Amino acid sequence: MIDLRSDTLTRPTEAMRTAMARAEVGDDVYGEDPTVRALEERVAGLFGHEAALFTPTGSMANVLAVRTVVQPGQEVLCESRAHIVRAELGAHGAYSGITSRTWIHPRGQVDLPVLRDLFAPDMGHYFVPTAAISVENTHNFAGGAVLPLADLRDLREFATAAGAKVHMDGARVWNAHVATGTPLQEYGAVADVLAVCLSKGLGAPVGSLVVGSADAIAESRVWRKRMGGGMRQVGLLAAAGLHALDHHVERLADDHAHARLLAEAAGGDPDAVDTNIVVVDRPDAASYVERAREAGVLVATVGPTAVRLVTHLDVSRADAERAASVLASL
Ligand SMILES: *Cc1c(COP(=O)(O)O)cnc(C)c1O
Repeated sequence: MIDLRSDTLTRPTEAMRTAMARAEVGDDVYGEDPTVRALEERVAGLFGHEAALFTPTGSMANVLAVRTVVQPGQEVLCESRAHIVRAELGAHGAYSGITSRTWIHPRGQVDLPVLRDLFAPDMGHYFVPTAAISVENTHNFAGGAVLPLADLRDLREFATAAGAKVHMDGARVWNAHVATGTPLQEYGAVADVLAVCLSKGLGAPVGSLVVGSADAIAESRVWRKRMGGGMRQVGLLAAAGLHALDHHVERLADDHAHARLLAEAAGGDPDAVDTNIVVVDRPDAASYVERAREAGVLVATVGPTAVRLVTHLDVSRADAERAASVLASL
Protein backbone atom coordinates (compact mmCIF):
# COMPACT_ATOMS: atom_id res chain seq x y z
CA MET A 1 0.00 0.00 0.00
CA ILE A 2 1.17 3.51 -0.80
CA ASP A 3 -0.23 5.70 1.93
CA LEU A 4 -1.08 9.23 0.82
CA ARG A 5 -3.67 9.96 3.50
CA SER A 6 -1.44 12.29 5.52
CA ASP A 7 2.13 13.33 6.21
CA THR A 8 1.57 12.45 9.87
CA LEU A 9 1.95 8.79 8.88
CA THR A 10 5.73 8.86 8.51
CA ARG A 11 7.72 6.45 10.66
CA PRO A 12 11.10 7.33 12.13
CA THR A 13 14.01 6.26 9.93
CA GLU A 14 16.78 4.00 11.24
CA ALA A 15 19.11 7.00 11.52
CA MET A 16 16.48 8.91 13.48
CA ARG A 17 15.96 5.95 15.83
CA THR A 18 19.70 5.81 16.42
CA ALA A 19 19.78 9.52 17.26
CA MET A 20 16.86 8.98 19.66
CA ALA A 21 18.54 6.04 21.36
CA ARG A 22 21.71 8.04 21.92
CA ALA A 23 20.05 11.24 23.19
CA GLU A 24 21.31 12.75 26.41
CA VAL A 25 18.32 13.22 28.68
CA GLY A 26 17.24 14.71 31.99
CA ASP A 27 13.99 15.74 33.65
CA ASP A 28 12.52 18.39 31.38
CA VAL A 29 9.96 19.55 33.95
CA TYR A 30 13.04 20.52 36.02
CA GLY A 31 14.43 22.18 32.87
CA GLU A 32 17.24 19.62 32.91
CA ASP A 33 16.93 17.82 29.60
CA PRO A 34 19.83 19.06 27.47
CA THR A 35 18.42 17.69 24.23
CA VAL A 36 15.07 19.43 24.71
CA ARG A 37 16.84 22.66 25.56
CA ALA A 38 19.00 22.37 22.45
CA LEU A 39 15.93 21.82 20.29
CA GLU A 40 14.06 24.74 21.86
CA GLU A 41 17.02 27.09 21.43
CA ARG A 42 17.60 26.00 17.89
CA VAL A 43 14.00 26.44 16.79
CA ALA A 44 13.68 29.82 18.52
CA GLY A 45 16.80 30.93 16.63
CA LEU A 46 15.54 29.64 13.30
CA PHE A 47 12.52 31.92 13.58
CA GLY A 48 14.38 34.84 15.15
CA HIS A 49 12.38 34.69 18.38
CA GLU A 50 13.60 34.67 21.98
CA ALA A 51 12.38 31.28 23.08
CA ALA A 52 10.51 28.10 22.21
CA LEU A 53 8.72 25.32 24.08
CA PHE A 54 8.49 21.64 23.12
CA THR A 55 4.96 20.18 23.22
CA PRO A 56 3.55 16.71 22.59
CA THR A 57 1.27 17.85 19.74
CA GLY A 58 0.66 20.68 17.33
CA SER A 59 -2.80 21.13 18.78
CA MET A 60 -1.33 21.76 22.22
CA ALA A 61 1.22 24.14 20.70
CA ASN A 62 -1.64 26.08 19.08
CA VAL A 63 -3.69 26.18 22.28
CA LEU A 64 -0.69 27.48 24.23
CA ALA A 65 0.35 29.92 21.51
CA VAL A 66 -3.08 31.44 20.94
CA ARG A 67 -3.71 31.92 24.64
CA THR A 68 -0.56 34.06 24.92
CA VAL A 69 -2.20 36.62 22.60
CA VAL A 70 -5.93 36.24 23.32
CA GLN A 71 -7.52 36.51 26.78
CA PRO A 72 -10.72 34.73 27.86
CA GLY A 73 -13.68 36.66 26.44
CA GLN A 74 -11.70 37.98 23.49
CA GLU A 75 -11.68 36.67 19.93
CA VAL A 76 -9.27 35.45 17.32
CA LEU A 77 -9.98 35.92 13.61
CA CYS A 78 -8.95 33.20 11.17
CA GLU A 79 -9.79 31.66 7.82
CA SER A 80 -12.87 29.41 7.95
CA ARG A 81 -11.03 26.12 7.45
CA ALA A 82 -8.16 26.87 9.82
CA HIS A 83 -7.00 23.92 11.90
CA ILE A 84 -7.48 25.95 15.09
CA VAL A 85 -11.24 26.22 14.49
CA ARG A 86 -11.91 23.01 12.59
CA ALA A 87 -9.60 20.30 13.83
CA GLU A 88 -8.87 20.96 17.50
CA LEU A 89 -12.29 20.01 18.85
CA GLY A 90 -13.06 23.48 20.17
CA ALA A 91 -9.93 23.54 22.38
CA HIS A 92 -9.55 27.32 22.31
CA GLY A 93 -13.11 27.75 23.56
CA ALA A 94 -13.09 24.78 25.91
CA TYR A 95 -9.76 25.56 27.62
CA SER A 96 -9.16 29.25 27.05
CA GLY A 97 -12.58 30.93 26.83
CA ILE A 98 -11.71 32.29 23.40
CA THR A 99 -14.24 32.88 20.61
CA SER A 100 -13.52 33.19 16.92
CA ARG A 101 -14.91 34.67 13.73
CA THR A 102 -13.75 33.61 10.32
CA TRP A 103 -13.31 34.83 6.79
CA ILE A 104 -13.54 32.55 3.77
CA HIS A 105 -10.87 32.27 1.11
CA PRO A 106 -10.69 29.32 -1.31
CA ARG A 107 -6.88 29.21 -0.94
CA GLY A 108 -6.83 30.02 2.77
CA GLN A 109 -5.19 33.36 2.09
CA VAL A 110 -5.17 36.60 4.05
CA ASP A 111 -7.97 38.88 2.80
CA LEU A 112 -7.13 42.29 4.19
CA PRO A 113 -10.22 44.21 2.97
CA VAL A 114 -12.50 41.60 4.56
CA LEU A 115 -10.35 41.55 7.69
CA ARG A 116 -10.69 45.31 8.07
CA ASP A 117 -14.47 44.83 8.13
CA LEU A 118 -14.34 41.90 10.53
CA PHE A 119 -11.91 43.48 12.96
CA ALA A 120 -13.53 44.59 16.24
CA PRO A 121 -11.56 47.18 18.20
CA ASP A 122 -11.95 47.13 21.98
CA MET A 123 -14.85 49.50 22.63
CA GLY A 124 -15.36 48.66 26.25
CA HIS A 125 -18.44 46.84 27.35
CA TYR A 126 -20.34 45.65 24.30
CA PHE A 127 -18.55 43.95 21.41
CA VAL A 128 -16.12 41.05 21.72
CA PRO A 129 -12.72 42.62 21.00
CA THR A 130 -10.41 41.12 18.38
CA ALA A 131 -7.14 40.37 20.15
CA ALA A 132 -5.36 38.41 17.43
CA ILE A 133 -5.47 37.27 13.85
CA SER A 134 -4.36 33.72 13.10
CA VAL A 135 -2.94 32.55 9.79
CA GLU A 136 -2.09 29.02 8.70
CA ASN A 137 1.02 28.61 6.57
CA THR A 138 0.87 26.38 4.66
CA HIS A 139 -2.90 26.07 4.80
CA ASN A 140 -3.80 22.42 5.29
CA PHE A 141 -7.44 22.23 4.21
CA ALA A 142 -6.83 24.72 1.40
CA GLY A 143 -4.53 22.16 -0.18
CA GLY A 144 -1.17 23.08 1.32
CA ALA A 145 -1.34 26.62 -0.05
CA VAL A 146 1.51 28.97 0.78
CA LEU A 147 0.67 32.42 2.15
CA PRO A 148 2.74 35.02 0.27
CA LEU A 149 5.18 36.89 2.46
CA ALA A 150 3.99 40.28 1.16
CA ASP A 151 0.44 39.52 2.41
CA LEU A 152 1.79 38.44 5.78
CA ARG A 153 3.78 41.66 6.09
CA ASP A 154 0.71 43.75 5.26
CA LEU A 155 -1.29 41.76 7.78
CA ARG A 156 1.26 42.30 10.53
CA GLU A 157 1.33 46.01 9.80
CA PHE A 158 -2.46 46.20 9.91
CA ALA A 159 -2.66 44.14 13.12
CA THR A 160 0.02 46.16 14.87
CA ALA A 161 -1.64 49.46 13.95
CA ALA A 162 -4.96 48.08 15.21
CA GLY A 163 -3.43 46.88 18.49
CA ALA A 164 -3.77 43.16 17.73
CA LYS A 165 -1.30 40.29 17.57
CA VAL A 166 -0.61 37.71 14.88
CA HIS A 167 -0.49 33.96 15.51
CA MET A 168 0.89 31.67 12.83
CA ASP A 169 -0.09 28.03 12.75
CA GLY A 170 3.11 26.93 11.07
CA ALA A 171 2.55 23.18 11.30
CA ARG A 172 3.94 23.06 7.75
CA VAL A 173 5.84 26.33 7.63
CA TRP A 174 8.88 24.23 6.64
CA ASN A 175 7.11 23.37 3.40
CA ALA A 176 6.41 27.05 2.71
CA HIS A 177 10.08 27.83 3.40
CA VAL A 178 11.34 25.15 1.01
CA ALA A 179 8.74 25.86 -1.69
CA THR A 180 9.43 29.62 -1.82
CA GLY A 181 12.96 29.96 -0.48
CA THR A 182 11.66 32.42 2.11
CA PRO A 183 13.95 32.27 5.16
CA LEU A 184 12.22 30.96 8.29
CA GLN A 185 13.25 34.18 10.05
CA GLU A 186 11.07 36.15 7.63
CA TYR A 187 8.07 34.05 8.66
CA GLY A 188 9.08 34.51 12.28
CA ALA A 189 9.20 38.26 11.76
CA VAL A 190 5.54 38.52 10.69
CA ALA A 191 4.13 36.72 13.74
CA ASP A 192 4.10 37.42 17.47
CA VAL A 193 3.80 33.74 18.23
CA LEU A 194 4.01 30.58 16.13
CA ALA A 195 3.26 26.90 16.50
CA VAL A 196 5.40 24.56 14.37
CA CYS A 197 5.27 20.75 13.96
CA LEU A 198 8.07 18.22 13.67
CA SER A 199 5.68 15.32 13.19
CA LYS A 200 4.34 16.12 9.71
CA GLY A 201 6.61 16.11 6.69
CA LEU A 202 9.73 16.37 8.84
CA GLY A 203 9.10 12.79 9.91
CA ALA A 204 9.55 12.93 13.69
CA PRO A 205 7.19 10.55 15.51
CA VAL A 206 6.05 13.22 17.99
CA GLY A 207 6.59 16.85 18.74
CA SER A 208 5.77 20.48 18.07
CA LEU A 209 6.95 23.79 19.46
CA VAL A 210 5.53 27.14 20.50
CA VAL A 211 7.86 29.94 19.38
CA GLY A 212 7.70 33.49 20.72
CA SER A 213 8.95 36.00 23.27
CA ALA A 214 10.56 34.87 26.52
CA ASP A 215 7.42 36.03 28.39
CA ALA A 216 5.05 34.15 26.10
CA ILE A 217 7.10 30.98 26.43
CA ALA A 218 7.33 31.30 30.23
CA GLU A 219 3.53 31.58 30.34
CA SER A 220 3.17 28.65 27.94
CA ARG A 221 5.45 26.53 30.14
CA VAL A 222 3.07 27.03 33.07
CA TRP A 223 0.00 26.20 30.99
CA ARG A 224 1.66 23.19 29.41
CA LYS A 225 2.21 21.71 32.87
CA ARG A 226 -1.32 22.69 33.93
CA MET A 227 -2.73 20.84 30.93
CA GLY A 228 -0.71 17.72 31.71
CA GLY A 229 1.88 18.28 29.00
CA GLY A 230 4.98 18.47 31.23
CA MET A 231 7.11 15.54 30.09
CA ARG A 232 10.20 14.09 31.76
CA GLN A 233 13.12 12.43 29.88
CA VAL A 234 11.67 13.66 26.63
CA GLY A 235 15.03 14.35 25.02
CA LEU A 236 14.43 10.99 23.31
CA LEU A 237 11.74 12.73 21.26
CA ALA A 238 13.53 16.05 20.95
CA ALA A 239 16.46 14.16 19.42
CA ALA A 240 14.13 12.98 16.66
CA GLY A 241 13.23 16.61 16.05
CA LEU A 242 16.85 17.73 15.89
CA HIS A 243 17.61 14.90 13.49
CA ALA A 244 14.65 15.95 11.34
CA LEU A 245 15.90 19.54 11.22
CA ASP A 246 19.33 18.33 10.13
CA HIS A 247 18.19 15.86 7.50
CA HIS A 248 14.55 16.28 6.48
CA VAL A 249 13.97 19.93 5.67
CA GLU A 250 15.57 20.36 2.25
CA ARG A 251 14.18 17.04 1.04
CA LEU A 252 10.65 18.45 1.32
CA ALA A 253 11.31 19.68 -2.23
CA ASP A 254 11.02 16.03 -3.34
CA ASP A 255 7.59 15.77 -1.70
CA HIS A 256 6.52 18.91 -3.56
CA ALA A 257 7.68 17.49 -6.90
CA HIS A 258 5.85 14.21 -6.17
CA ALA A 259 2.68 16.13 -5.32
CA ARG A 260 2.75 17.89 -8.70
CA LEU A 261 3.19 14.55 -10.42
CA LEU A 262 0.18 13.11 -8.59
CA ALA A 263 -1.97 16.17 -9.30
CA GLU A 264 -1.31 15.83 -13.00
CA ALA A 265 -2.02 12.09 -12.97
CA ALA A 266 -5.27 12.60 -11.06
CA GLY A 267 -6.47 15.13 -13.61
CA GLY A 268 -5.84 18.13 -11.37
CA ASP A 269 -3.83 21.27 -12.03
CA PRO A 270 -0.18 20.84 -11.00
CA ASP A 271 0.21 24.63 -10.90
CA ALA A 272 -2.37 24.75 -8.11
CA VAL A 273 -0.08 22.61 -5.96
CA ASP A 274 2.17 24.81 -3.85
CA THR A 275 3.62 22.12 -1.59
CA ASN A 276 2.93 18.49 -0.56
CA ILE A 277 -0.88 18.44 -0.51
CA VAL A 278 -3.12 17.83 -3.49
CA VAL A 279 -6.88 18.25 -3.40
CA VAL A 280 -8.81 17.00 -6.42
CA ASP A 281 -12.51 17.32 -7.13
CA ARG A 282 -14.31 14.04 -7.72
CA PRO A 283 -18.10 13.77 -8.07
CA ASP A 284 -18.09 10.84 -5.66
CA ALA A 285 -15.03 11.14 -3.46
CA ALA A 286 -15.90 8.12 -1.28
CA SER A 287 -16.06 5.72 -4.20
CA TYR A 288 -12.81 7.13 -5.64
CA VAL A 289 -11.09 6.47 -2.31
CA GLU A 290 -12.40 2.90 -2.33
CA ARG A 291 -11.25 2.22 -5.89
CA ALA A 292 -7.82 3.71 -5.18
CA ARG A 293 -7.54 1.46 -2.11
CA GLU A 294 -8.34 -1.61 -4.17
CA ALA A 295 -5.49 -0.59 -6.50
CA GLY A 296 -3.03 -0.22 -3.61
CA VAL A 297 -3.15 3.53 -2.95
CA LEU A 298 -4.62 5.04 0.21
CA VAL A 299 -6.09 8.53 -0.17
CA ALA A 300 -8.60 10.45 1.96
CA THR A 301 -11.74 12.49 1.47
CA VAL A 302 -11.89 16.03 2.80
CA GLY A 303 -15.46 16.65 1.65
CA PRO A 304 -18.18 14.84 -0.33
CA THR A 305 -16.49 15.78 -3.62
CA ALA A 306 -12.93 16.42 -2.48
CA VAL A 307 -10.11 13.89 -2.32
CA ARG A 308 -6.82 14.70 -0.61
CA LEU A 309 -3.39 13.21 -1.35
CA VAL A 310 -0.37 14.06 0.77
CA THR A 311 3.23 13.23 -0.08
CA HIS A 312 5.84 12.67 2.60
CA LEU A 313 9.10 11.07 3.71
CA ASP A 314 7.79 7.51 3.36
CA VAL A 315 6.73 8.00 -0.28
CA SER A 316 9.70 7.43 -2.58
CA ARG A 317 9.97 8.59 -6.19
CA ALA A 318 9.09 5.04 -7.29
CA ASP A 319 6.04 5.03 -4.97
CA ALA A 320 4.92 8.39 -6.35
CA GLU A 321 5.25 7.13 -9.91
CA ARG A 322 3.33 3.94 -9.15
CA ALA A 323 0.60 5.93 -7.37
CA ALA A 324 0.45 8.32 -10.32
CA SER A 325 -0.18 5.48 -12.74
CA VAL A 326 -2.92 4.08 -10.47
CA LEU A 327 -4.61 7.49 -10.20
CA ALA A 328 -4.33 8.04 -13.95
CA SER A 329 -6.06 4.69 -14.53
CA LEU A 330 -8.92 5.71 -12.24
C1 LIG B 1 -1.44 18.67 11.98
C2 LIG B 1 -1.74 20.10 12.19
C3 LIG B 1 -1.69 20.68 13.47
C4 LIG B 1 -1.37 19.91 14.73
O1 LIG B 1 -1.91 18.67 14.80
P1 LIG B 1 -1.57 17.57 15.91
O2 LIG B 1 -2.15 16.36 15.32
O3 LIG B 1 -2.23 18.01 17.16
O4 LIG B 1 -0.09 17.51 16.07
C5 LIG B 1 -1.92 22.02 13.57
N1 LIG B 1 -2.19 22.77 12.48
C6 LIG B 1 -2.23 22.25 11.24
C7 LIG B 1 -2.49 23.15 10.09
C8 LIG B 1 -2.02 20.90 11.06
O5 LIG B 1 -2.08 20.40 9.82
